[in-house]
Amino acid sequence: MSYQQAPKVLVTGGAGFLGSHLCDRLIARGEDVLCVDNFYTGSKRNVDQLIDHHRFELMRHDVTFPLYVEVNRIFNLACPASPIHYQHDPVQTTKTSVHGAINMLGLAKRVGARILQASTSEVYGDPEVHPQQEGYWGRVNPIGIRSCYDEGKRCAETLFFDYRRQHNLEIKVVRIFNTYGPRMHPHDGRVVSNFIVQALQGEDITIYGDGSQTRSFCYVDDLVEAILRTMDTPAEFTGPVNIGNPGEFTMIELAEMVLRLTGSKSRLVRQPLPQDDPKQRQPDISLAKSALGWEPKVSLEDGLKETIAYFKRLLQA
Ligand code: NAD
Ligand code: UDP
Ligand code: UDP
Repeated sequence: MSYQQAPKVLVTGGAGFLGSHLCDRLIARGEDVLCVDNFYTGSKRNVDQLIDHHRFELMRHDVTFPLYVEVNRIFNLACPASPIHYQHDPVQTTKTSVHGAINMLGLAKRVGARILQASTSEVYGDPEVHPQQEGYWGRVNPIGIRSCYDEGKRCAETLFFDYRRQHNLEIKVVRIFNTYGPRMHPHDGRVVSNFIVQALQGEDITIYGDGSQTRSFCYVDDLVEAILRTMDTPAEFTGPVNIGNPGEFTMIELAEMVLRLTGSKSRLVRQPLPQDDPKQRQPDISLAKSALGWEPKVSLEDGLKETIAYFKRLLQA
């Protein structure tokens, strides 16, 4: 079956934070969507709004096992993204990235589907090049506590490019930088959800280390738009392409913005910096701008307002 004939889009990890927003957008575009998830960190609640839609199908399945379905595009997002979750069962994390990629690439090969991999800025590790361009090979510890995620994602990228070289698959690789927004899990341990939940509940805001480390935060709607555009690029475009918001903030600046926007009186308290925590992170998005005609539109302040409103509703429910 060719790319044009089969009608369905597969989203692995589709019941997760990013995957569920992607499913929403695909359904809104009139696509037939097959959402596959093992509900490790995602939940049916994230796709509740789609369950009764005639173009939407939800399947419980672990991508480390083979999957035989007929689709013409695959968005491979399955993988826990928060350090707390991916370190909980690190062997399963590597399996999900590596065996998951092999299975989804094998599927893409059999049905002639185009396939996109959700890679990560973590492939750059703790970078000595700033901001990070796609040509930078990264500085990743192969044996640390983040390695199951970082090296798993690096190996998945290798597999994507080898399936292209060996089997001529149509691949796309996006390197996603920290993304936030509604439907983040309140206790998934990532910094944006932690700070907002702590501020709303009047608890101490936990700054790891001295809070001078930086991250660049992209709002989920901007991210999903970029992923969709990447999938629709001409066949010769493979990426990897950085997707993120170049606005760079220290964790202290983020905490202060969250306090101001919530009107919270929470105190900032220091906690130890986790092992191998990258010191700085900022995407160079020149390639995304030229190849996708894309740049993020939502400022951190506006995106945080939406996310705070979401967590307020969630915590009151
Ligand atoms: P998430 O944890 O909310 O979503 C991941 C989804 O994958 C969950 O629904 C989970 O249940 C599912 N999953 C995990 N292992 C699976 C398996 N073996 N089989 C089937 N499903 C499985 O995380 P997210 O933030 O939505 O991230 C989605 C993707 O984007 C991940 O691949 C992640 O590595 C990548 N990414 C996210 C960010 C970010 O800031 N959110 C940054 C870089 C990369
Ligand atoms: N696979 C799958 N669905 C398919 C085709 C393949 O899940 O529709 C899996 C299968 O487990 C296989 C892997 O993808 O081991 C890689 O497939 P490929 O054809 O590249 O290699 P194989 O191992 O079959 O020689
Ligand atoms: N962080 C923090 N307090 C928290 C959670 C995280 O200071 O409660 C820091 C963490 O040490 C890191 C940054 O925020 O420097 C981003 O962490 P996150 O886990 O969100 O993402 P990643 O490290 O994978 O970019």
